[in-house]
Amino acid sequence: MTARAAAGRPLVVPVFLPHAGCPHRCVFCNQSAITGAESLSARPDPDRIARQIESFLAASRPRPLVHIAFYGGNFLGQTPQTVQELLGLAGAYVSGGKADGIRFSTRPDTVEKQNLDAVAPFPVDTVEIGAQSLDDRVLIRSRRGHSASDTAAAVGLLKSRGYRVGLQLMIGLPGQSKDSALASAAQAAALAPDFVRIYPALVLAGSPLARWYRRGRYRPLRLKTAVSLTAQMVGIFSEQCIPVVRMGLQATEDIRPGSQVLDGPCHPAFGELVRSAVWLQQLQDALLDTGENGRLRIWVHPRTESQVRGQNNQNIALLKKRYSLQTISVIKENSLDPETVRIEAGEKLRRVLRCGPVKKRSP
Ligand code: SF4
Repeated sequence: MTARAAAGRPLVVPVFLPHAGCPHRCVFCNQSAITGAESLSARPDPDRIARQIESFLAASRPRPLVHIAFYGGNFLGQTPQTVQELLGLAGAYVSGGKADGIRFSTRPDTVEKQNLDAVAPFPVDTVEIGAQSLDDRVLIRSRRGHSASDTAAAVGLLKSRGYRVGLQLMIGLPGQSKDSALASAAQAAALAPDFVRIYPALVLAGSPLARWYRRGRYRPLRLKTAVSLTAQMVGIFSEQCIPVVRMGLQATEDIRPGSQVLDGPCHPAFGELVRSAVWLQQLQDALLDTGENGRLRIWVHPRTESQVRGQNNQNIALLKKRYSLQTISVIKENSLDPETVRIEAGEKLRRVLRCGPVKKRSP
């Protein structure tokens, strides 16, 4: 295990640079709504950013690994001077021992050798690429202005330089079918990123998608469909041992139905709903395999209990009915990994299920 892996997930200090360095206007984008920033400043203000980093660090519990992260724009699309200034600012926290690395998100078509040469002197650990889809038809309909091959090339170049790579994908994009989203997940998994984020497209006020929505040209995914599709995508990444570190946008004052979100699968616990769907599917598969219909016992970590039960205990009720089970007991066990559930039903079924990446068997 590398020292990086041993330290676990880093504390990420987010610095949002809404729309910075981006000449595009993707149909779903309204960065000021997502980040809550009132104006899309042309040039980030270093003093404001330093204050923001300081107050975030002061309010956070110490963690073994701290990353300063620039999100919300197209980091490498900014002028070389701004890129150097921001990396210099964040780099001072690393050299001063307050942080361990820097990460940023950028468009795939800005990951070029020349840009990476300029970044090389700074302690950048991770680059997140806004891929959104690997279906060129969907990318064109979404007015992304880059292709799937740009994403593949960007991942290859970043990996060749030793960066950790995250891929951001979206579901519910214009013209994107379920098959297209699943194919994108499979293609993304084949690129072997270090982690993935999945976001459902929302109809944000002020975005081009909002106009299409009003004219009946676009319909967002319903929550149930978005949860089920994301759960299937999580399965694809888990098979390849790729963690999905975020599902759904962070709930803020602006990101909730009735605020900047006009419609779409917006739920404050979207990730929990997806994990609940993944557990349900895993439990169903296990019961289908054995045809067990007696007494099911499920051992869970306390943090996982509500996911396994589902909202209002609906997973348990559904399993009981569908498999004619006499009883289902959910037993809390602190020693279990929160990603793991142990189940037992009669003599036939004793199994360990996992929600996250599945460890590959040795060949
Ligand atoms: S590339 Fe990113 S910041 Fe630019 S318009 Fe698209 S989603 Fe918004």
